[in-house]
Amino acid sequence: MTASPIGTAFVVGSGPTGLASAIALRTQGFDVRIIDKSTEPSTHSKALVIWARTLEMLDGHLDVGRILDAGIPGKKMRLFARGEKVAEIGLEETDSRFVGGLFLPQYDLERILAERVLELGVTIERGLELVGFEQTSHDTVEVTLRDAEGGQTAASADWLIDCSGSHSVVRRHLDLGDRHRAELPVRFSIADVVVSGVPQEMPEPSDGIASNFTHPDGLCVFFPVDDDRYRIVLEDDSIDDGAVPDLTELARAVRLRTGLELELSDPAWLTSFGVRERVLNDYGVGRVLIAGDAAHVHSPAGGHGMNTGIQDAINLAWKLALISRGVAGNTTLRSYSEERSEIGLQIVTSSSHMTRLMTLQNPVMRFARNTAMHLALGFDAIQRRALRSLSMIDLNYRNFGLRSSSSIRRDRDSLHPGDRLPPIVLRSSGDEVHVDELTRPDRFTLFVIESPGTPDFDKAMDEMGGILERMPDALRPLVQLVPIHADEVSATARGEICDASGALRAQAGFRGHGAMLVRPDRYIAFFCGALDGQPVLDWFAGL
Ligand SMILES: Cc1cc2nc3c(=O)[nH]c(=O)nc-3n(C[C@H](O)[C@H](O)[C@H](O)COP(=O)(O)OP(=O)(O)OC[C@H]3O[C@@H](n4cnc5c(N)ncnc54)[C@H](O)[C@@H]3O)c2cc1C
Repeated sequence: MTASPIGTAFVVGSGPTGLASAIALRTQGFDVRIIDKSTEPSTHSKALVIWARTLEMLDGHLDVGRILDAGIPGKKMRLFARGEKVAEIGLEETDSRFVGGLFLPQYDLERILAERVLELGVTIERGLELVGFEQTSHDTVEVTLRDAEGGQTAASADWLIDCSGSHSVVRRHLDLGDRHRAELPVRFSIADVVVSGVPQEMPEPSDGIASNFTHPDGLCVFFPVDDDRYRIVLEDDSIDDGAVPDLTELARAVRLRTGLELELSDPAWLTSFGVRERVLNDYGVGRVLIAGDAAHVHSPAGGHGMNTGIQDAINLAWKLALISRGVAGNTTLRSYSEERSEIGLQIVTSSSHMTRLMTLQNPVMRFARNTAMHLALGFDAIQRRALRSLSMIDLNYRNFGLRSSSSIRRDRDSLHPGDRLPPIVLRSSGDEVHVDELTRPDRFTLFVIESPGTPDFDKAMDEMGGILERMPDALRPLVQLVPIHADEVSATARGEICDASGALRAQAGFRGHGAMLVRPDRYIAFFCGALDGQPVLDWFAGL
């Protein structure tokens, strides 16, 4: 990065949220420091699933191919009751450029993210603990750090980003309020182990198949960790939080609940946990912002904790960049809390429902659940909807945060401001390109979309070009203009992009030439007619 930094950001914690924060902030042009109190990276597999939306949001910040190459593409999730398969959900095909769910242990993702942090010229400073902080003026945060020998040092930054996990010391010092706080009456044992015995019944982990076995004694789930091991999650109310389960006992329970003569060996991780839920009201005060498990914790059902933290980090970075560049203010800063706290609540609510549903004690309710899932998941449409929800591609900011009413009427089926930009296929010089590939994580993208058979597309482009000229100097370089032609011949002649099928125009709901503004995190900010760009200027002025 050669340009002078737009400001300084201090990231606490080098878990997945902290690493994603460091990458996203650096991509926006910040000078970044990232510290972690632990002297070594974690060796625990913890999160095992990266969902499509997280891959989409990381794309452009790093080569997502590195993550895809390291993981096992998810094929399906199977549900068994008393040894019989009652339902399954396909994990491969969703409305994304990426697989719906990728199995990859958290330490591998952290390694790949840490490599990217280093490539961006940032060193992860290990053995340094944040022990205090103070917002000394309206634009500086002072931090106190303790090294592994107990020595203390001070530092300062424009922004403090707390990604220090569920025991966050920053959160304890701020009065942020809980939007939700609860403890679920379930506990689980965990074992990352080699599973052998009945290869015809239990696929290889590398096949990318997760299996859920429900049983009157409790749930037993298998997730692929890597080519050799499965993660077994066993509902186990007798175990204490954090206790190490006995492998022989665990294997006995697994055999009973699956009805399969399985052998478990070579444990890489044995632990147990109870389910606590928490979502903060506010994800920060002033220049101290909180992301990841520090702001929200919940049941691992659905596998959304780490994914949500990474998405918090990406939501935050471009907003801080706009503020540091002087083109946005408190509305934008507040929108981080509004958007991410609401999403945090949605995720906690759905994981809570999933946990309660899968750990039902009452046999009649269990029978009803199994029957309902068997029937419902027999329909392709319901399966697709389930995967859209799991893969987080349906999350949107339609009703909260930096939303804006569109100046174009929205139909029920058209895209709305606040929606994720879907990967609609366009054409570029005869090749396919997805509309979301045309965006950049450090820019807004203003698509100007031609309506076929309508004159004056050049005039619409001139209008939007003129709008860019009228933007403040600090904002103009942060907005890229992308014309989308209706006709492939004229698009190719100009080396530009074409919406030959009309799919983008149809989903955008335009009847004439239209403009669609997309945020750096690939959510749609705004729609308007392309012959009058004033609403675009008004939208930016409201930041
Ligand atoms: C068994 C299990 C299964 C899971 N499965 C999934 C899944 O499939 N999908 C999913 O999305 N999520 C899953 N999760 C959740 C996921 O592991 C967490 O959501 C994720 O680790 C949160 O990342 P984070 O970076 O916010 O916090 P953490 O990973 O907790 O990282 C915080 C970092 O901050 C450091 N730190 C703490 N305090 C300080 C300080 N004062 N100064 C400096 N450094 C500090 C810590 O050393 C640590 O490295 C699972 C969790 C568990 C336990």
